[in-house]
Amino acid sequence: MNECLFCKIVGGEIPATIVAEDDQFIAFRDIEPQAPTHVLVIPRTHIASLNEATDAELMGRLLLFARGVAVKEGLTERGYRVVLNTNAEAGQTVFHIHAHVLGGRPMRWPPG
Ligand code: AMP
Ligand code: ZN
Repeated sequence: MNECLFCKIVGGEIPATIVAEDDQFIAFRDIEPQAPTHVLVIPRTHIASLNEATDAELMGRLLLFARGVAVKEGLTERGYRVVLNTNAEAGQTVFHIHAHVLGGRPMRWPPG
């Protein structure tokens, strides 16, 4: 049995506020938002992190799907950030690859 939290969201076992989806990806609101818009984009297939990603086309589509979320959320003019936390020091807590789409407030650099 797959114990992955985000696979359970893909399977509909755990509820999520879905903002966009297609046959390959689902975008849903982060349960603990760090900005006025904080959406997670995940592939329906399980990939643990960027370290395990091998499908260049899928990863390219993931990025464009994240851009589509930013369009839908009205963020493209103001700006937004797309983040893939990868492994412990980057703060990855869910090991099903996901792109954070963050926007709606000024972002600082460097990130913490
Ligand atoms: P990361 O720390 O990069 O692995 O990001 C995992 C993100 O998943 C965090 O921002 C969490 O707030 C978010 N999260 C955890 N559980 C859920 C859930 N059930 N629904 C939506 N977002 C979640
Ligand atoms: Zn998974």
